[in-house]
Amino acid sequence: MSNVIDLRSDTVTLPSPAMRQAIFDAALGDDVYGDDPTVNALEKLAAAKVGKEAALLVTSGTMGNFCGVLAHCGRGDEVIVGDKCHIYNHEAGGASVLGGVAYHPVANTDAGEMPLTAIAGAIRDRENPHAALTRLVCLENTHGGCGGVVVAPSYMAQVKKLAHANDLKVHLDGARVFNAAVALGVDVKEITQHVDSVQFCMSKGLSAPIGSILAGDADLIRKARRLRKMLGGGMRQAGIIAAAGIVAITEMVDRLAEDHVNARILAAGLATIPGIAVDMNKIQTDIVVFSITDGRDLGALIGQLKAHGILVGGFGANSIRAVTHYGIDSNHIEATLEVFRTLMSQPAIGGSQAVEGAYR
Ligand SMILES: *Cc1c(COP(=O)(O)O)cnc(C)c1O
Repeated sequence: MSNVIDLRSDTVTLPSPAMRQAIFDAALGDDVYGDDPTVNALEKLAAAKVGKEAALLVTSGTMGNFCGVLAHCGRGDEVIVGDKCHIYNHEAGGASVLGGVAYHPVANTDAGEMPLTAIAGAIRDRENPHAALTRLVCLENTHGGCGGVVVAPSYMAQVKKLAHANDLKVHLDGARVFNAAVALGVDVKEITQHVDSVQFCMSKGLSAPIGSILAGDADLIRKARRLRKMLGGGMRQAGIIAAAGIVAITEMVDRLAEDHVNARILAAGLATIPGIAVDMNKIQTDIVVFSITDGRDLGALIGQLKAHGILVGGFGANSIRAVTHYGIDSNHIEATLEVFRTLMSQPAIGGSQAVEGAYR
């Protein structure tokens, strides 16, 4: 792997030396009995970090969102989601399949928002027996489907006000909420204060090997703990995971700024290459989405990049996504730009063979 520059996602990050040491040294117990001191320490720390009463360690962001949505909603309830959000598009419909909750998608703007009027319009009349019961609004920050843009806390405050006025709760899919906080230069609580529950990933830019946190009030987390158990997510000596999580949220947040700088450098460099278009306004965090405008086959290009040791992902019909992270430094960015300059200066290759596997 050492020669590969892996820009597919910040999920490919490997644990830091401090994490490996913390895992080695972790005090352990059976967390299903509530006996793992490291898990308990992480949950306490994480709750305080995002300004909530309680927190729960879960295996993944998907499990965190699932437990969050299902702790708020029962069968026959409806949840308002952005049409580009992760919960709606990339979580196998879990809340619907396993929880009997209906999704009510509302179009996301390029800023990762749902217009307030559209949210208001999606709230069902409780007195109408034909309608499902609207229970929850889900936000996402940063917004992955919109290219890692930061959703403004002022907008979130308005959503919360609208939701609470209609007896709804607000859940935040904050898989990368620390990227949003660092990009804004604010404490993460400036963001999470506007939601009733939040899920964040420790295994993305924060570089822990496994784990997400769901945080909210104590009653919600009690319900979520039952749901986690139901899913098979009650883990025993989970301090092995939590030890790295503690390092992630105490030592790895501030350095996200480096990833954001590298993303800007990568984007600015790509923007100078003929055949590539980048909207620099959207390069706000660690995600760089850019389009290929010279008509060459995207899959073939991704295959060529791979052959040169550079891994990226496709993003929609004619765009590529590259994500900076703890494993990427400025030399990797320079090397990546060099390969792009070379490949884009050459005629496009055809070749469905290259397309094959490019999207894995
Ligand atoms: C990655 C991600 C998730 C899911 O996290 P997993 O740990 O991969 O299950 C949820 N929401 C967003 C916005 C994400 O980027």
